[in-house]
Amino acid sequence: MKDRYGRDIDYLRISITDRCNLRCIYCMPEEGICQTAHKEILTYDEIRRICRCMTALGIKKIKLTGGEPLTRKDSAVLVRMLKELPGIEKVTLTTNGILLKEQMAELAEAGIDNINISLDTLNTEAFKKITRREGLARVLEGLKEAMKYPQIGLKINCVPVLEDPENLINLAGIARDNPIHVRFIEMMPIGYGKEFRFCGEDEICSVLEGAYGEMTPITEKYGNGPCHYYKISGFQGKIGFISAMTHKFCSQCNRVRMTSEGYLKACLQYQTGVSLKDMMRTGCSDEELTEAIRKVIWEKPGEHHFTSKVIDEGESRLMSQIGG
Ligand code: SAM
Ligand code: SF4
Repeated sequence: MKDRYGRDIDYLRISITDRCNLRCIYCMPEEGICQTAHKEILTYDEIRRICRCMTALGIKKIKLTGGEPLTRKDSAVLVRMLKELPGIEKVTLTTNGILLKEQMAELAEAGIDNINISLDTLNTEAFKKITRREGLARVLEGLKEAMKYPQIGLKINCVPVLEDPENLINLAGIARDNPIHVRFIEMMPIGYGKEFRFCGEDEICSVLEGAYGEMTPITEKYGNGPCHYYKISGFQGKIGFISAMTHKFCSQCNRVRMTSEGYLKACLQYQTGVSLKDMMRTGCSDEELTEAIRKVIWEKPGEHHFTSKVIDEGESRLMSQIGG
């Protein structure tokens, strides 16, 4: 389905829990967030029903996110349920990797198509500082396990938060040594992200070029989203950038988001949307559900205004509640 600006909306990101086993400083407070009661979270059957309605409107790709999606029981069962829906071409996952090693086999069996692992540093102490938890070794074991399934696309996503060029160079080194794309995401001023300086694409490129030589932009896409890529001679994987701040990509935005409580959001920055959970739990029909989704997609805002000081209806949810 196209929105009123002519953008093709074919991608849904679903937060399946707001719980997380890490506390990244730019995403969650130290004490965690007041967790939503289980009964307020959509069941897997409710998620499937919504996704079935969405396929009728042209949604073809689904990303499971959170909080940490792998902390929700039987997430692989949901993967399988969504993969079985006619019209769904890809079901993917973004995870912090802590529980990946244990769950990788069942995710693969359920048919997961791609996995993004969020990893901001390869240094144990820095990992502890950023996530306020131990766990780097477990994430790396998860990554190693995932690499045993070459049919599943793997990417590393890094939100550069430390003012440390070595950190960026080491992370990019994963793409040199493995057929894995490493992507840098500019920090967005959502929730705790507002408290950090974002490290922009140009800055990162100059650090990486200093270490690895020329970065050549390429036009290939390797996923659902707005990431653009560079190749570096001798690298097996590519280096990508999701630069919402310095290279605004709203005109190509293809996605909507749903929170774990079933609130469908049209844009990361705006609250506007609809509670599909309330509709379903008060007995709406599939036609009514589909119509409500159609309206949210149609009315999707034209662009974010992260760089302007004040906006009306600005999002007050945290990134861990929206799903990134
Ligand atoms: N826990 C999972 C993970 O970390 O991949 C899924 C949820 S997390 C909210 C999804 C992504 O959002 C992560 O890659 C995280 O680094 C990113 N993220 C969180 N806060 C952000 C912010 N303010 N700006 C940009 N990306 C952010
Ligand atoms: Fe958890 Fe992901 Fe947020 Fe880190 S970025 S606190 S892993 S939800």
